[in-house]
Amino acid sequence: MKKKLIVGNWKMNGSLAANEALVAALKQGLAAQAADGGCGVAVAVPAPYLAQVQALVADSRIALASQDVSQHAAGAYTGETSAQMLRDFGVRYTLVGHSERRQYHGETDAVVAAKAQAALAAGITPIVCVGETLQEREAGETQAVVKRQLAAVVHAVGHCVTELVVAYEPVWAIGTGRTASPEQAQEVHAVLRAQLAAATTQAEGIALLYGGSMNAANAAQLLAQPDIDGGLVGGAALKAADFLQIIAAAN
Ligand code: PEP
Repeated sequence: MKKKLIVGNWKMNGSLAANEALVAALKQGLAAQAADGGCGVAVAVPAPYLAQVQALVADSRIALASQDVSQHAAGAYTGETSAQMLRDFGVRYTLVGHSERRQYHGETDAVVAAKAQAALAAGITPIVCVGETLQEREAGETQAVVKRQLAAVVHAVGHCVTELVVAYEPVWAIGTGRTASPEQAQEVHAVLRAQLAAATTQAEGIALLYGGSMNAANAAQLLAQPDIDGGLVGGAALKAADFLQIIAAAN
């Protein structure tokens, strides 16, 4: 069976002390879970804490992720972090196009595609986030929106499409406590899978994560859907016990 992937997105939360305590609790909990096999686990941490968390997770199965990456390689881009810099700190995955970046930082489909390309060029796996707003869902535009968002990236990365991870995150479900039902999520995941299948014969191998108020209570049902290969977890990733329960559901 395909291994699932659970990624925690800490967003702009944490401190040196809180990160240390959270990672210690995760490591302890993971050590108590099945030793071999198990799903992939990663945490997407705020940029200033990459070095700290790189050291903390070094002896564990937790991979390091960043929450964003610059589309540029280097130069006069104040405040940005290049993919190569992220590589220096052992970053394996980066989110691109999280809805909070699209919404508050004006990231367009073209910018998200360029970021995915920059990550791939540095050997970092982009986790491409797509998802519709409530207004778009109510207008019956869900499929058109996610297809447009994914198409921009698929077109830009060409044959590297097999190296992507895609996260379906309905905007109305992020941080709201309102989760897509397993059927609603599966319906969109199947659409995304079909879109990827049109670009590669290896679409089955591309991890499609669900994100949006995933928690210890709803994870198992969501993860049981045929096209849901893992989760992108925000709020519940900040509580070790909850995150560990989600990981256990994916193991
Ligand atoms: C997210 O930030 O990607 C997310 C899914 O958040 P939450 O789980 O809190 O809805």
